[in-house]
Amino acid sequence: MKEETIIEIDNLSVSYGPIQALDGVSLHVNKGEIVALLGANGAGKTTLLQTVSGLIKPTKGDLKYLNERITGLEAEQIVKKHLVHVPEHRQVFSTLTVLDNLYLGSFHHYKKSGKNEVENDIKKVFELFPILNERKSQLAGTLSGGQQQMLAIARGVMAKPELLLLDEPTLGLAPIVAKEVLELVSELRKEFGTTVLLIEQNVVSSLKIADRGYVISHGEIVKSGMANVLLKDKEIKEAYLGQTVH
Ligand code: ATP
Repeated sequence: MKEETIIEIDNLSVSYGPIQALDGVSLHVNKGEIVALLGANGAGKTTLLQTVSGLIKPTKGDLKYLNERITGLEAEQIVKKHLVHVPEHRQVFSTLTVLDNLYLGSFHHYKKSGKNEVENDIKKVFELFPILNERKSQLAGTLSGGQQQMLAIARGVMAKPELLLLDEPTLGLAPIVAKEVLELVSELRKEFGTTVLLIEQNVVSSLKIADRGYVISHGEIVKSGMANVLLKDKEIKEAYLGQTVH
């Protein structure tokens, strides 16, 4: 049986004025997969995720999500289709409590889903992120960096993602906390069946939880394959030697 493709990115190019950030990028993510998008600073990873979620308009190419063309749609329309972007720098609402941040995650479908379903989702999220349950009344801005990252991901889960885009969830975290966050992403897939496209600088750790990976360099995909094969790839090993999280 053919695997169901959640997102298909076809020949996508993006420019910021004279700077071409993406140049003919094609990739896909199948249902239930965790796919890692790897690359150095400035390679175009964030631009790619922002284009998928409608924040940036491509100059060329096509985006197909659940067999529907979404190229050029506004971010607001895209998130309503349960394509959810958790941006880098863990942007939580710092003056709101943990619980209110989670409710905000369900904003786009609250009316449709109803209170009971949303409460049930919060219960499930708390099972996966017990620390957020412990801190549910605490202001989000007073959580530790790792806890804020968990909240940012949990808020994304509250939006009932068919596809979750995670932009560097371990950025700035201590290695042990970074490992914990990536393990949670893996758990998320197990518990909720969430499909994930993940940007990471921690190449080894992210390939360990991913099924497949793509390497992007100067706006182009230069390598792709099964995560276990990429893990053994000599060029990747050489390019990323010295990273601290394993
Ligand atoms: P990092 O890992 O450092 O976040 P990245 O792989 O996510 O990098 P992008 O942020 O997508 O890379 O940047 C790709 C290229 O586009 C870079 O050359 C960057 O300088 C450029 N760029 C990104 N945003 C803008 C912008 N708003 N205006 C102009 N150039 C930009």
